[in-house]
Parts: sequence; structure tokens; C-alpha cells
Amino acid sequence: MTTLGTALSQAQGQGMDRLDAQLLLLHVLGQDAHDRAWLLAHDSDALPAAAEGHLAPLVARRAAGEPLAYIIGRREFFGLDLEVNPSVLIPRPDTEILVEWALEHLPTTTDQTLRVLDLGTGSGAIALALKAQRPGAQVQALDWSEAALAVARRNAARLSLDITFAQGNWLDSNHQRYHLIVANPPYVADADPHLSALAHEPLQALTAGPDGLQDLSTIIASALGHLYPGGSLLLEHGHKQAVAVRELLAVAGFCKIASRRDLAGIERCSGGQQSLEPHPHAHASLRTIGSPAAHRPPR
Ligand code: GLN
Repeated sequence: MTTLGTALSQAQGQGMDRLDAQLLLLHVLGQDAHDRAWLLAHDSDALPAAAEGHLAPLVARRAAGEPLAYIIGRREFFGLDLEVNPSVLIPRPDTEILVEWALEHLPTTTDQTLRVLDLGTGSGAIALALKAQRPGAQVQALDWSEAALAVARRNAARLSLDITFAQGNWLDSNHQRYHLIVANPPYVADADPHLSALAHEPLQALTAGPDGLQDLSTIIASALGHLYPGGSLLLEHGHKQAVAVRELLAVAGFCKIASRRDLAGIERCSGGQQSLEPHPHAHASLRTIGSPAAHRPPR
């Protein structure tokens, strides 16, 4: 007889780490992903044959390198249980830094007048985390990919979080203003060797030109005109991009430019503020940094 305990050891024997094996086992048993304590308490229970049959191919997929989040269709982000599938990037713990920083810009007493935009929302992770923490804010979320928007809309509906979604190419044809714009855009260089480890995720959500700065440049160049005076743009970027992003923000005319470090001490997010005085020369020489603005639709 296969018990839950032996099934766990077998999955680990096939190269899965213990946490992944536990999450997968909970998934085939139809148990809550948070309930690892249940699993420990039922270690010597028999694994039902149907669950065993379901488990084997999933363990094989994981062993072949498919991310666990896609196999179980779920990922936790900022305390929210999110649906994910291969049309969206799997939310990363790094991005929680951006959410925390954004929350510092949104007072807890936030009322309906505060307008927030999440660009390239993917699964909706950032927008949903902000709305969950600041229910009073008006949160909009945009993506290029209709398939990603479908996932984000389902997440919002399941979590009963009221977000306005739109399809679009960054800020093109958007005529609104916001108090806060946030984005975790694609920022990996087209030829980055790390991409081979991310082969299951949508390339459109990952890569942005030869230096990875193409979408960050596009967003920075257009965001100032979409912020109210005093409003902020906060961006996640790659681990070697902070200097370039701060420079793009400066050239575009942002003030109070700053960066935030991740848990490993790496500058992971940068942002700036629309000054209270409109900047007369904003956008003037933006193209001096980063890649030329050859265009491709972002996710
Ligand atoms: N942080 C992700 C990674 O390198 C990339 C996310 C992104 O491009 N926005 O795995």
C-alpha cells in the first residue's frame, strides 16, 4: 500500500524538493495548499488509487522542469491565492518589495479619489495585492495579452476585489491620470542565458530588447504625463538595471528618484515622482539611454 508518507518520499526520490512534493500531494488530494499540517497528520493514510494515478504524471512534469505553480495552477502572492497558467508570469517574492513600496505611497485611509494603475498586470498579482490592502483605492490594471487578462479577471472575481481591467500597449491611448503607476514589465535582455531556466514562462512577459530596458524606457518616457503632480511611478527591474533606470527617470524629468533593495540587498525597484511644478524639458533626450525604440508589443 502506498501511504501519503511513502508517496512523498517517492516524489522526493524523483528530484522534487520536499515543499513542492507536499504541495503536489495536497493538490491531487484536493486539500488546501496551505494545509501541510494536515499532510503530516495523515502521513500513514493510504493514498487513494485515483490520486496516485493523478500524481505520477505530475511528478514527471515537475522532474522535467515545469514550474510547480503551472502544474497545480496556483501561486501565493502577498497572502493571496492566485490562479496562474502559462500565459502569465509566475508572481515572484521579489515583486512583493514593489507592493510594499507602493503601499507606502497609499495611505491606509485611502479614499475613492486615489487612482492606481498596474501596467503589465499578468495574473493581476500587484493590482490585487494593492486593492486587498487598500480597498478604498481605485485600481486599474492593464495588459497586452488577452489570455493574461482572462486569468487576472478570474483572480479578481474569485477574491472579490474590484479592479478595472483594460487591454493595451502600456500607456498608448490612455488619457487618464493617476496618483500611482506601478509595473513589473519585461526586463530580461533578449539573449540573457538565464532565459533557458524560464522556458515555461511567456517570453513576452520576460524579454525587452538587447539590454532588457526597452519596455522600462517606453513606460518611463510616457508616464509623467499620466501622473498627477506629486504622483509616483514605481518599477521593478533587473538586478543590474538600477543605475540605468534612475538615469531614464532623471532624463524624463522625474524628481525624488530612489531605489529599493530586495532581501538579497540588490536594487530591485526604482521610481520617481512627478514634481509639483511641470517639467519643461521632460522627454527631451530620453533616447540617449537604453535601446533604440524599436517597437514590439509587450505583454
Ligand atoms: N524576475 C524575473 C526573473 O528574472 C523576470 C521578471 C520580469 O521580466 N519582469 O525571473
